[in-house]
Amino acid sequence: MTDKLSAVKGMNDILPPESARWEWLEGIVREQMARHAYRNIRTPILEHTALFVRGIGEVTDIVEKEMYSFEDRLNGEALTLRPENTASVVRAVTEHSMLYDGGKRLWYMGPMFRHERPQRGRYRQFHQIGAEALGFAGPDVDAELILLARALWKALGLADIRLELNSLGQPAERARHRAELIAHFEKHQDGLDEEARRRLHTNPLRILDTKNPAMQEIAQSAPRLIDFLGAESLAHFDGLKAILDANDVAYTVNPRLVRGLDYYNLSVFEFVTDRLGAQGTVCAGGRYDDLIVQIGGKPAPAVGWAIGVERVLELVKEQGTAVPAPLPDAYAVVPDAAAMPVALRTLRELREAGIRIQMHAATADGLGSFKSQFKKADASGAAFALVFGADEIARGEVTVKSLRDGKGEQTLRPLARASAWATTLQSSALND
Ligand code: ATP
Ligand code: MG
Repeated sequence: MTDKLSAVKGMNDILPPESARWEWLEGIVREQMARHAYRNIRTPILEHTALFVRGIGEVTDIVEKEMYSFEDRLNGEALTLRPENTASVVRAVTEHSMLYDGGKRLWYMGPMFRHERPQRGRYRQFHQIGAEALGFAGPDVDAELILLARALWKALGLADIRLELNSLGQPAERARHRAELIAHFEKHQDGLDEEARRRLHTNPLRILDTKNPAMQEIAQSAPRLIDFLGAESLAHFDGLKAILDANDVAYTVNPRLVRGLDYYNLSVFEFVTDRLGAQGTVCAGGRYDDLIVQIGGKPAPAVGWAIGVERVLELVKEQGTAVPAPLPDAYAVVPDAAAMPVALRTLRELREAGIRIQMHAATADGLGSFKSQFKKADASGAAFALVFGADEIARGEVTVKSLRDGKGEQTLRPLARASAWATTLQSSALND
């Protein structure tokens, strides 16, 4: 025996029936994106490393230690598996001059890669759904994105997700805050952990969202960025809050909610739940008006968010939401292989009419007995069994047997015109 191979640590297979949950979520996402007129964008999973260094920032967890980077063996290019998708979207929008005729609303869904310690809600290959609105400056679009996220929670039947909000103002306002922040942390040097000391002069804002319990007090008493905002920044923030209020969106302003990079500005927000333990942030977003320039495009405002799909699905599971299972309408019982040509022709016609059918197929031991085929039909969850017995076929018919009414009611249907009786097999027909 050769050794069994296994998946890479922190990278999960998504198997049935679990994958049905993913398909269900994807369907809801597509519908909600369409209702908000966001259009799908698909960028490559592999990009030049420089894109993420510029687009995420050198002094971030992602770029410092989480990227799967390698050198292309053939041409020596530095490449990286995308750790997130905003940088790629901005690159694509710039590369294809997509903003030439106005703003664009885009969304994506797909795998991201980060070298982190795998744990509940934290994987090395994980999935994000993201929405980005590029070319729009006002708080109305920030609000639209937040309302879109809330529409998703509603459609997914999720409760217990709270919204935290903050404004980062503009770079000049942040520079003044930064100076006072560094002064504050310097005054409390002794209480800083090693990471905080390292970030003190490179990215002091990030010290504010430290998870180290010993540093909470120093972070709490730090100068608040919001107190440094000028009239225009405050008006943008108030504009956002007014729209949220008009839509009964509950939120708390969290002055310690930050992003450590200079191209983030104005609105930042997170949707958080207490039901998933330490990994409780299910969606994070905000404005990044200066990122497009950073990546080499013409200046244009932008705002977006990303949802962690695994965390959202964990919450769906945790709340016991019923997810429709993709069950077949009918299971085809075929006692004798000689009936296969006729059976498959009928199944094809029924499938063309929209019926979902699971065909019985032989294993290495053959087709199995009539009885064992019926057991499989029952286990499949189908509402009907189609029995392609030799006698029926000789008469030009197939037996349709109900598997759900408890009585096993049977009818004979003509093989010649399957499309005429196809709809009687639809599961929904049972409830009519
Ligand atoms: P965290 O503080 O949890 O590391 P982050 O700031 O790195 O989060 P973002 O880059 O903002 O996360 O990504 C947006 C969302 O993607 C997160 O809120 C989370 O739901 C999800 N996410 C991020 N990293 C992972 C991961 N390794 N595994 C699963 N989901 C993740
Ligand atoms: Mg992270």
